[in-house]
Amino acid sequence: MSKRATIFSLIILASVGLGGYVAYHRIERSKPLACEVCTRPIHEGQAYRVELTDGSGATSCCPRCGIHHQLEHVARVAQAWATDHATRERVAAERAYYVEGSDARYCNPHPAPLREPGVVYEMTFDRCLPSLIAFRTDREAQAFHARHGGRVLSYREAVESVKRW
Ligand SMILES: [Zn+2]
Repeated sequence: MSKRATIFSLIILASVGLGGYVAYHRIERSKPLACEVCTRPIHEGQAYRVELTDGSGATSCCPRCGIHHQLEHVARVAQAWATDHATRERVAAERAYYVEGSDARYCNPHPAPLREPGVVYEMTFDRCLPSLIAFRTDREAQAFHARHGGRVLSYREAVESVKRW
């Protein structure tokens, strides 16, 4: 291979590599894998997206973390989106139904320690607890609630609960 052909091949290889790198990072940026609010992993069917009036926004790990973020920017929220846990599809947050405090804890999977006499437990705040899981329909939320416990809330009730915890 001539020197010229070798240089040409190297340029082609470098362009392909660079193109792949840029494309990969575009995809990575468009779909965050970690919560942009608390940095925990985003689990499938749990993401919550808050879009602000200035065009910025944040995708969070769960509705509870997302609603916390929303309440911190309450005057600037343009739209909030939950993910329907049953279909993994986006649903307007205010139209979704929520199951709070079920045994499905995606953000903090460690079960609560056993309560034993004589043992000192430390109470810590966890932004993602009690868990909040969104559903497009009341029927899906009720079905999940029957299997996993907790309680079914409307959007308004979910926001009120996040204000309290
Ligand atoms: Zn989070």
